[in-house]
Amino acid sequence: MKTHVKALVVGGGAVGTGIAYHLAKAGWDTMLVERDELTAGSTWHAAGLLPLFNMSYATTHIHKYSVDFYKGLQAETGLDAGFYVVGNLRMAQTDARMDEYMLYSSVAETAGVYHEFLSPAQIKDRWPLVRTDDLKGALFHPQDGYINPADVTQAMAKGARQHGVTIERKIQVDGYRWTGSEWVVSVTRMVEQGGNLVPSDEKHEIHAEHVVTATGNHAQRTAKLLGIKIPAIPVEHQYIVTEPDPALVEWRKTNPQHPVLRDADAKWYVREERGGWILGPYEYGAPARFEYGVPDSFRADLFPLDLERIEADTCR
Ligand SMILES: Cc1cc2nc3c(=O)[nH]c(=O)nc-3n(C[C@H](O)[C@H](O)[C@H](O)COP(=O)(O)OP(=O)(O)OC[C@H]3O[C@@H](n4cnc5c(N)ncnc54)[C@H](O)[C@@H]3O)c2cc1C
Repeated sequence: MKTHVKALVVGGGAVGTGIAYHLAKAGWDTMLVERDELTAGSTWHAAGLLPLFNMSYATTHIHKYSVDFYKGLQAETGLDAGFYVVGNLRMAQTDARMDEYMLYSSVAETAGVYHEFLSPAQIKDRWPLVRTDDLKGALFHPQDGYINPADVTQAMAKGARQHGVTIERKIQVDGYRWTGSEWVVSVTRMVEQGGNLVPSDEKHEIHAEHVVTATGNHAQRTAKLLGIKIPAIPVEHQYIVTEPDPALVEWRKTNPQHPVLRDADAKWYVREERGGWILGPYEYGAPARFEYGVPDSFRADLFPLDLERIEADTCR
């Protein structure tokens, strides 16, 4: 294993892999370590929605860059990043919500993000399966869509390797020491044992000028290792994947996919998935999990389904 690098990235989710790719592209000697497999964290579960909509000027630029970057990844790496440019329709039930979209419009224009406004009649005309009677209108981004989080991470990992990044899987970071001129990072090789990921006796030290931690839900533990307190607590989120919907299957015989549908007032997102739908609610009062740190035993696990929690009244 390489023991001296300019930059060490910790965590092989969508974020860490993207950072490693860009550091290497900028010419930095970079290594990425992941305690499990690439995408084994929350990246594994994401619905993959890429909202260009954002009220912040700076974040809008990041989103725009990301969407353009994902579109070019296949040509660069030969791997399909799983990007479905189906558009994103953000619906409004109130005038206040439409005002918010108008305000956003000025940010988007300044950042060069193309968007359109649609009336309920125009929505119904293009997508008859969408119920529009309680809508004031919608903001439409035709260049947006959704992406397969595992595929885009693997494509970025391949791109990173092409730029010289070394990726070490099953390597867990257990300690950081700053010498005054570099980081000395203690790592342990993880091994599979009876379905669990456990530390082995194989230990190493990696010397790095810069360390970037991208440990997702494990941020509390990482912070502790660095002697700081980050009260980052995961919150449960669940989405429903339906069986094929006959109305949708019929519609798709002669039409392209629906855009990602978002109703900011009802607080749901919906997108197509193999003839059916993925419905994701942003729940009011969604429970926090692992207040004092995600246990080491937690991998790409799922929490038990809790449909009662996402019935009508729990979304506001
Ligand atoms: C159900 C669900 C749906 C979602 N839908 C969307 C969506 O539609 N759109 C969207 O943008 N986002 C969505 N998200 C959020 C998205 O998944 C996360 O924001 C994103 O995956 C975070 O990526 P990450 O790389 O920061 O973290 P992670 O993917 O969690 O990666 C962190 C990695 O660090 C590794 N790690 C941790 N500690 C160590 C250590 N000590 N040493 C080495 N490695 C370590 C972990 O094993 C893990 O692989 C959703 C999330 C969930 C749960």
